[in-house]
Amino acid sequence: MSATFHTEKPAEDVPVWVNKHNCKACDICVSVCPAGVLAMVYDPSSVLGANISIQYPDSCIGCLECELSCPDFAIYVADRKEHKFAKLSDEAKKRQEAIVANNYMALDEGAK
Ligand code: SF4
Ligand code: SF4
Repeated sequence: MSATFHTEKPAEDVPVWVNKHNCKACDICVSVCPAGVLAMVYDPSSVLGANISIQYPDSCIGCLECELSCPDFAIYVADRKEHKFAKLSDEAKKRQEAIVANNYMALDEGAK
């Protein structure tokens, strides 16, 4: 199997997944996620120096905002019939605020 252009849902039951090769590290999906699921991480192997990371999949509420906002069709959300999504929690909302305040970087990555 070629992982390079793999855009199908992974075999595991995951709420959201990414084709990192399509990702341009634009931060848009991170900015629209209400639940602090996504963040950018430094990635020296990427020409952009950063890449999208699914940090807290268990908090994903399946709102589809990331998938609908991505200009590069690089992020995908599971079907509601196939995945049981979380409910939006105060903890997730607070984490999202912290990620935005951290310039969309993962909270353990420091500011850009
Ligand atoms: S919106 Fe798309 S291209 Fe931009 S960071 Fe997210 S996955 Fe990558
Ligand atoms: S579906 Fe919604 S909650 Fe889940 S990662 Fe995308 S924007 Fe965040």
